[in-house]
Amino acid sequence: MNTLIVVDYQNDFITGTLQVPRAIEILPRINDLIAKADRVITTQDWHPRGHCSFKQFPEHCIARTWGSALHPYIQIPDGAGVLLKGQDAGVEGYAPSEYSLRLYDLSGQITVCGLAFDYSVSETAATLFGMGLDVSVDLRATREIDSKKALGIVRLMLHLGIKIV
Ligand SMILES: [Zn+2]
Repeated sequence: MNTLIVVDYQNDFITGTLQVPRAIEILPRINDLIAKADRVITTQDWHPRGHCSFKQFPEHCIARTWGSALHPYIQIPDGAGVLLKGQDAGVEGYAPSEYSLRLYDLSGQITVCGLAFDYSVSETAATLFGMGLDVSVDLRATREIDSKKALGIVRLMLHLGIKIV
């Protein structure tokens, strides 16, 4: 069983208030990975108004708005899992909680992709790795906000033993 986790491929991160550069470019690659995966789980930033991260970032991904919806052209299969995160106004929540991840049987290979590499994607991969799971990040199916920071994270991941493909 292989699992694909598609992180935050949401309108606000692609064409909305907190755009990740060239985020739309990875859409075909993500859809290819979805087609090959045994199971797909998506995560969505799902913030209340006044969320603590809006001190650092523009307001984004307000729950149940256009900005928090997944991109319309992402081909999410029926039965895919959904993990909402960042719902607590005082907690940042880049990665889904370990508790919410444990609701799924994540044995086997896990591939993480989506947005943004230097925040939620790497944090999600690190959380899964910390849970002792077999996790890799597909670099061609992710984009970052800050490329210099992203390079440092890639080095750290390789050092820790988190696979990059
Ligand atoms: Zn957020």
